[in-house]
Amino acid sequence: MNLHEYQGKSILKSFGVAIQEGVVVDKVEDAVAKAKELTASTGTEWYVVKAQIHAGGRGKGTVEETGSRGVVLAKGIDKVEETVKGILGGHLTTLQTNGVGKRVNKVLIAEDVYYPGESEPSEFYMSVLMDRDKGRNIIMYSTEGGMDIETVAEETPHLIFKEEVDPRVGLQGFQARKIAFNLGLSGKAFKEMTKFVAALYAAYEGCDASMFEINPVLKTSDDKIIAVDSKVTLDDNALFRHKDYAEMRDKTEEDPTEVEAGEAGLNFVKLDGNVGCMVNGAGLAMATMDIIKMSGGNPANFLDVGGTADAERVEKAFQIILKDENVKAILINIFGGIVRCDRVAQGVVDAYKNMGNIPVPIIVRLQGTNAVEAKKLIDDSGLNVHSAVQLQEAADLVKEILA
Ligand code: GDP
Ligand code: MN
Repeated sequence: MNLHEYQGKSILKSFGVAIQEGVVVDKVEDAVAKAKELTASTGTEWYVVKAQIHAGGRGKGTVEETGSRGVVLAKGIDKVEETVKGILGGHLTTLQTNGVGKRVNKVLIAEDVYYPGESEPSEFYMSVLMDRDKGRNIIMYSTEGGMDIETVAEETPHLIFKEEVDPRVGLQGFQARKIAFNLGLSGKAFKEMTKFVAALYAAYEGCDASMFEINPVLKTSDDKIIAVDSKVTLDDNALFRHKDYAEMRDKTEEDPTEVEAGEAGLNFVKLDGNVGCMVNGAGLAMATMDIIKMSGGNPANFLDVGGTADAERVEKAFQIILKDENVKAILINIFGGIVRCDRVAQGVVDAYKNMGNIPVPIIVRLQGTNAVEAKKLIDDSGLNVHSAVQLQEAADLVKEILA
């Protein structure tokens, strides 16, 4: 689950990570009062207004309706309202929004932290993520903060450092010091950075994140180290331990079909192929997607209906698959272990009749308990449903239909 910047920052703060403070606004009318509240605790009357959408590159992005950037400095309380107006409610396009502007439902009014002082502020990059090959967490960091990290990786890969953390012993003091050293820090900033890294790593573990990306981490002109941006991805499988984080889910940021499927208890991921699949079990679903590829098609989705493939669930699954106009055929591949094949077949037939007209051919492969009875049910139904027993037969049918 992805979080908004302001939500990620609130988690970071709760673990003692220093952040750029801010207030969240969803109505222009609230902006000035909220900004004043912020000033009461920060002391500054310079603000930065930041669109809250699930995409990066906001600073260089454009709000379609107003031409405003997605991150804008407001130098004074009298500038706040018009700045917020330029962003809130508009559609923000960035390099990461795939060409479609994302509606901005909330903005963060944050304190300006790039104030002048003894030294220049400087921006670093830092992320924490899991390296699945090594079975370890990695802290990735760079002196080249505030820029697109992919570009840094391409043009100046030697400026990206990695620190591996053994989960059995956790982050060690020397590792935090090494990071601060490699970032070229000394004195107070060095010490602040070691504290920052330790708190950040504790937050990553403590909230069961699968990814943290803080870009930029800022060294202020008075040598404080703070998180200016936050991109936090939480591990869905651990959300049951964090009810308060689970409530942070913003469904308006997610694919509506995936949200609908999730609410129906179906495990669905949309893909961009032409063959819809309905399968019970994640492993079988993966194998089915391979079969579709091998027969010249491309899976339009991953869909695991789970253990109870009854008429109601099958119908819901049909509805979800058919929302995708690219779907030219649907392959149902069910292994009847606990669920009997004839029950699933009956479910398919009932769902089909209930839905009236399904505009694409359906291939059903049922294997396991009562597979023979199931095949007979499908064959006798008189519907545009083809049955198969072997997976290869099903694959051949897909090929035939797509040809
Ligand atoms: P992103 O573009 O979506 O990654 O959004 P960020 O939160 O990283 O903000 C983009 C850029 O805005 C940062 O790299 C900074 O250069 C700038 N920025 C963020 N906060 C401030 C601030 O308080 N003052 C100033 N002057 N610039 C800021
Ligand atoms: Mn950023």
